[in-house]
Amino acid sequence: MVHWEAHACLPLHPQADFAPLDRLHAAGVNYVSINIGMDMNPLAQVMSVIGGFRRTIAAHPDRYVLASSVNDIERAATDGILAVGFDLEGAMPLLEQPAMVALYRDLGVRQMHFAYNRNNSVAGGCHDDERGLTALGRRMVTAVNAAGVLMDCSHTGRRCSLEIMAASAKPVIFSHSNPLALVLHGRNVTDEQIRACAATGGVVCVSGVSGFLGTRTPTADDVARHAAYVARLVGVEHAGIGLDISFHQHGLDDTPPGNFDATWWWPKSAGYDRSISPMTYTPVETWQALASALQRAGMTSDEAALVMGGNMLRVARRVW
Ligand SMILES: [Zn+2]
Repeated sequence: MVHWEAHACLPLHPQADFAPLDRLHAAGVNYVSINIGMDMNPLAQVMSVIGGFRRTIAAHPDRYVLASSVNDIERAATDGILAVGFDLEGAMPLLEQPAMVALYRDLGVRQMHFAYNRNNSVAGGCHDDERGLTALGRRMVTAVNAAGVLMDCSHTGRRCSLEIMAASAKPVIFSHSNPLALVLHGRNVTDEQIRACAATGGVVCVSGVSGFLGTRTPTADDVARHAAYVARLVGVEHAGIGLDISFHQHGLDDTPPGNFDATWWWPKSAGYDRSISPMTYTPVETWQALASALQRAGMTSDEAALVMGGNMLRVARRVW
């Protein structure tokens, strides 16, 4: 049984320590997708992060493999090492060129968003004026499908995510998004979005972030409750896990250069008022508690295994 963690964040710095990934592995995770850049990060930062992360993975073949196939993940699970993939959160580092999608794929990027909270020339963000997929965005969807990269609609605007899912010839995922019906937050997704994702054959992976779960100290039971909502709405084969733990590391500043304005990317009005809704993360040990928590939420052990990895394996097998 493979456990699939659809999204985690190390510092966006080439020297980032992979020790937190070792902790995820020890907690039972077999594959983890880690962020290598968002729309706010300049290309120089994104490239140096990819270079640094690739060097760390290559230096420890006894601990990590940069996965390019489901077979790589299954082999890593058998060998007791952690399979890693990269994800890109936003289309701005694609420089408006569909050909860049396959280049990122060759560098290890296995899943891709088109917008990070704000609108760009490709797509609409979830914390901006509602806008659809642009003409360039449609060409980008085709490029993502052709490159064998997972199309990811977390952080994307509602209308735009529906248009991406309608345009995609392959299953689409939400790698870290929670049901809006359970918690009113601008980052959470509507039942319509969840149904559209399921209609592509995709998976909605629920996060373990406090503000999106609607609890100050999130636990495995909170995550399980959100996964169970998705399962009840569209079927257990469309629910997954992307805890979205951000592993900050002392001394590694990954703030984008220049006059970086965090309130532009994470506006208070969208639900990021930390006095009301502080952002804390479930611990990595959540992975050890998830199987029983999902069963307490009404699933069988086989259904829990689908949510913890089987569903994303199925999708990756079709898309990669
Ligand atoms: Zn994210």
